[in-house]
Amino acid sequence: MTALLQVEDLKVAYGKIEAVKGISFTVQQGEVVTLIGTNGAGKTTTLRTLSGLLKPAGGKIFFDGTPLNGIGAHKVVAMGLAHSPEGRRLFPRLTITENLQLGAFLRKDPDGVQQDINMCYDLFPILGERRKQAAGTLSGGEQQMLAMGRALMSRPKLLMLDEPSMGLSPIMMQKIMETIRELKAQGTTILLVEQNAQAALSIANHGHVMEVGKIVLSGTGEELLHDESVRKAYLGED
Ligand code: ATP
Repeated sequence: MTALLQVEDLKVAYGKIEAVKGISFTVQQGEVVTLIGTNGAGKTTTLRTLSGLLKPAGGKIFFDGTPLNGIGAHKVVAMGLAHSPEGRRLFPRLTITENLQLGAFLRKDPDGVQQDINMCYDLFPILGERRKQAAGTLSGGEQQMLAMGRALMSRPKLLMLDEPSMGLSPIMMQKIMETIRELKAQGTTILLVEQNAQAALSIANHGHVMEVGKIVLSGTGEELLHDESVRKAYLGED
């Protein structure tokens, strides 16, 4: 079976700084794959490159069998790859509903869009209750829910989530992780970047540990969760 996403020897640089130094991994249809690692390891850079915001300095990306050779971010969304970025990047003055509608900007099926807005409100009832509230006035957790909802509005084949638990209270974080589990159960394919390695690995089918631009360890979520070096470095054990 060909992978939905295939990354081969990907390199990304900011000027002379090589942030991603030749990484390879795949994401199969229906699975959750996580990239974990220390700050500055290159995880966000990887997602930004996959979504067409940065151009690779080398390597290949295939999405759904098609090469993504530095094609722009709009085309990448149209191909079915959606990105819920770190820091959320919502439109703060627009309402929840308007932000969700913008996530569907390429779609031409208003009924389907409305159905999916309702689906987001089912997934995150608080968003439904506050649908007319400006996004900029939502709490951090609510903004994260909205960012995920907005990414889902393009009906993506692959959903990329960058640090969805960042800055959230333990209860909110749990809620976000439960939602990711629910999306997985519904068959959504997800590439998840997370600082919270425990939570990410317990959801993921496969995981990759990144350190200074390279993948240093790969395995199933289960294997990495029980790996001694991962436990010491990322799960805070002695
Ligand atoms: P974190 O978990 O802290 O977000 P990360 O694994 O997502 O880390 P990246 O944000 O991808 O890491 O950063 C990888 C490296 O690239 C870092 O050394 C960072 O300083 C550098 N970097 C990121 N963005 C830029 C930029 N716009 N210009 C120059 N260097 C950058």
